[in-house]
Parts: sequence; C-alpha cells; structure tokens
Amino acid sequence: MNLKEYIKIVPDWPKPGIQFKDITPLMDNGDAFRYATDQIVAYAREKQADLIVGPEARGFIVGCPVAYSLGVGFAPVRKEGKLPRETIKVEYGLEYGKDVLTIHKDAVKPGQRILITDDLLATGGTIDATIKLVEQLGGVVVGIAFLIELNYLNGRKNLEGYDILTIIPYD
Ligand code: AMP
Repeated sequence: MNLKEYIKIVPDWPKPGIQFKDITPLMDNGDAFRYATDQIVAYAREKQADLIVGPEARGFIVGCPVAYSLGVGFAPVRKEGKLPRETIKVEYGLEYGKDVLTIHKDAVKPGQRILITDDLLATGGTIDATIKLVEQLGGVVVGIAFLIELNYLNGRKNLEGYDILTIIPYD
C-alpha cells in the first residue's frame, strides 16, 4: 500500500512557506490507518514497549490505537494548562512557533519502557521536549515512531542516540 496517496499537502498553511502534511485522509481510510498502525505496533512489540507516550493532538491519534492493540497504557503530553493534576513542564521550539509541553508527574514509572509517537518529525523540537519529560520521570525511551518524516529538515540530528521508525519519508 502506498501511504503517500493518503497524505494531502496543503501549501502555505498555517502560514506562508509551510507545506502542511495533512494526515486526515489516511485516518479517514480504515485500511490505510490500520496498515500504518500495524507497522508501529510491530515496532513497539519488537522494542518491548510497555507504555506509549504522545504529544497532542496527532500524537494521540497515532499512539492510542497502538496502545490498544498491545494492551498497554497511553500517557498524553499536552500544552500547558490542559492536564488537571500535578505536572512537570519543558519549553520547546516548533517549525512554526514556541510552546510549553507538560505531562502528569505520575504518568511514567521509573524504568518503564516508553515508545513515543507523533504524526510527523519536522525539526524534532516537539519530540526532544517529550523525551525530556519522559526521562525526567525516569522512563526509558526505547523507540520513537512517526507516520511522516521531513528528511530535508534533518530533525533526526536533534534526536541522536534514539531509535526512530518513520513510515512515510519526504525528501
Ligand atoms: P517539530 O517539533 O518541528 O518536529 O514539529 C513537529 C510537530 O509539528 C508535529 O507534531 C506536527 O504535527 C507539526 N508539524 C510541523 N511541521 C509540519 C508540517 N509541515 N506538516 C504537518 N505538521 C507539521
């Protein structure tokens, strides 16, 4: 299955110069969504992940079906002010902007094997911040899975030393 057929490229959104990769057509197609998810499930199994962690909002969409399929938990990473209990936070830079990410203090147990999921690797700033949150709580990042990687932004260099799975690369 050629999953690129299910990614729509939206020029100059949300601002000029950004080629936004819209994954909603992939999510909209049951076969394509399952095909992509199954690859991440196999990867998570190989890495013996016992918790999935993903940043809002598309990291939830990618990670939750993987957690369900494996019978492990999912812990959300969210923008500041969204999680109701005690959190830790990290500031990070985006391809388009700056923000703060938070996680519940008790979401990750020390030594837990964590797979991080997101829809897309651009500069790597979001996932670098997510790794910091997980590691501050004592989690071990055993892998990071993306639907899409923008190779030309070289986000991997910000994630050196971590194992990465990408399903749909763009050169
Ligand atoms: P980054 O932190 O630069 O790796 O950016 C990754 C996050 O921003 C991902 O969670 C994506 O959802 C979003 N993002 C960044 N660039 C794009 C893009 N060109 N198309 C779609 N989403 C993007």
